[in-house]
Amino acid sequence: MEIKNLTFAYGRRPVLKELNLKFTPGKITSLLGSNGSGKTTLFQILSKGLKPKRGAVFYDKKNIHSIKPKEYAKQVAIVHQQNRVTGDMTVRQLVSFGRTPYMKMMSRYDNRDNEAIDNALEAMSLKELSSTPAVNLSGGQRQRVWIAMALAQETPWLLLDEPTTYLDIRYQYDILELIKKLNDQYDKTVVMILHDVNQAIDYSDEIVGLYQGKVLFQGEPEKVVTKEHMHTLFGVDLEVERYEDRPIVLHRRCLCEV
Ligand code: ADP
Repeated sequence: MEIKNLTFAYGRRPVLKELNLKFTPGKITSLLGSNGSGKTTLFQILSKGLKPKRGAVFYDKKNIHSIKPKEYAKQVAIVHQQNRVTGDMTVRQLVSFGRTPYMKMMSRYDNRDNEAIDNALEAMSLKELSSTPAVNLSGGQRQRVWIAMALAQETPWLLLDEPTTYLDIRYQYDILELIKKLNDQYDKTVVMILHDVNQAIDYSDEIVGLYQGKVLFQGEPEKVVTKEHMHTLFGVDLEVERYEDRPIVLHRRCLCEV
């Protein structure tokens, strides 16, 4: 997936400016950036919810805005932030929505659909909860349901907008381990927005730093997580040490201007 000279503005204020970025198939890439740097807007463009003003996103050398929605949904699955559960839908019913791109008018789920749904439930350790109403689940379990819905789509690409937000630290790692498993064992290419730099270091092959709608850096965590980059990206002084052969970002009380 490649983003070329992408410019996007809400009204007259540009949010993404001549953005160029390439995501590598097979890898886990995390997007880091301060609030307002344009991460969610970029994800909305990648999910075709917003159209760029200039430039384009290419998937398999085709402009994604010229690919039919159903076809695109068989290639790229997106888990947005703040999904809401309403009504009494069960976990399995929710996950089965992932099959929508494969459904013909008025058709029912066939064996192939049921197999994909079962596999998705299995991969996210949700089998035992499949008949539970999703409203009864904890935040961590619900996040697994949204990811399972995306898995039932059977796409090579999985995009996740802040998959660990609102989860306590145990469930954050739970989700990150599952995402790693999807990459390792199910060959999913993962692009995700993360807030925690150390989690991005531990779970990504590449990190992209978005700053004011542009790419400030992209590369392996070891190379790009530096004190200077962190200072520019977040506007605070963070210590970058090394621990178990990897960078680790340390932060305590910060003397930043409020
Ligand atoms: P991030 O996800 O990195 O926090 P966003 O993409 O949400 O950044 O926002 C980038 C900028 O665009 C922010 O300044 C935000 O206020 C603005 N913005 C986001 N959504 C809208 C919208 N629907 N209308 C107008 N401005 C918006």
